[in-house]
Amino acid sequence: MARVPFIAGNWKMNKTATEAVMLVRELLPRVQGIEKVDVAICPPATALGAVGPMLAGSEVGLGAQDVFWADSGAFTGMISPLMLVDLGCDYAIVGHSERRGRFGKPDERLSANAVKVFGDTDDSVNLKVKAALQHGLTPIMCIGETLPEREAGRTDEVVSSQVKAGLAQLTAEQVSGMVLAYEPVWAIGTGQACDADEANRVCGVVRRAVQAQFDAATAAKVRIQYGGSVTDTNAHELMSQPEIDGALVGGASLDATKFSHIVHATSVLARELRK
Ligand code: PEP
Repeated sequence: MARVPFIAGNWKMNKTATEAVMLVRELLPRVQGIEKVDVAICPPATALGAVGPMLAGSEVGLGAQDVFWADSGAFTGMISPLMLVDLGCDYAIVGHSERRGRFGKPDERLSANAVKVFGDTDDSVNLKVKAALQHGLTPIMCIGETLPEREAGRTDEVVSSQVKAGLAQLTAEQVSGMVLAYEPVWAIGTGQACDADEANRVCGVVRRAVQAQFDAATAAKVRIQYGGSVTDTNAHELMSQPEIDGALVGGASLDATKFSHIVHATSVLARELRK
């Protein structure tokens, strides 16, 4: 059975709760009745409470940008899966490269010590994925190589080891329902998307890593998004690739017209190619 493509918008640290409500008001009519594609937005945690009720009963799911692994406790500043479910979340992004302290466009204010605030590792990603699944949230687990890793010819090794560690101790059934996002770090927020052929190739590498760890049926079911400078102009080519099951969209998801264009382009392709 064909995989349903999934377009998710990662708003990152943009939009106050008031602004988020306005953006959702703009977006909802533009994606009404959309078919053959799943859609979600991931606003900042501070806007989830305002936006959640607006999305209830709509075509658009709600996601968080991160999740902690414990249900409650002495973890100042963290947000638990229980809290996200209570706010109506369906998804949680886990292990985004920015949360791992790996930036496509480095900020000169981030010294080696300051960057530790974005402290995700393969181990914490694995704990967060497990916690999200346990509470019925679908994790969108991000993986991807930095530019020096790519230039050293290590792309396939890096993404395969991130998959292996992030999915450790999960069941095939759990992984089948998950979303993986291949996001080359150098393509995030830089305006320099990965070539469609290469993105398709690496998504194939990711799928084979899932097959090696679980089985062919699981690899055939898991959805693998591409993320990194996806826009309304390059979405058609990227989304036409057979191994790419949608996109994690950053910057362009802050514009209702551009984001809905990406959603519609994917929906049309899904009707034409995957039926
Ligand atoms: C992202 O935040 O996951 C992302 C891919 O950002 P952008 O689309 O802006 O490159």
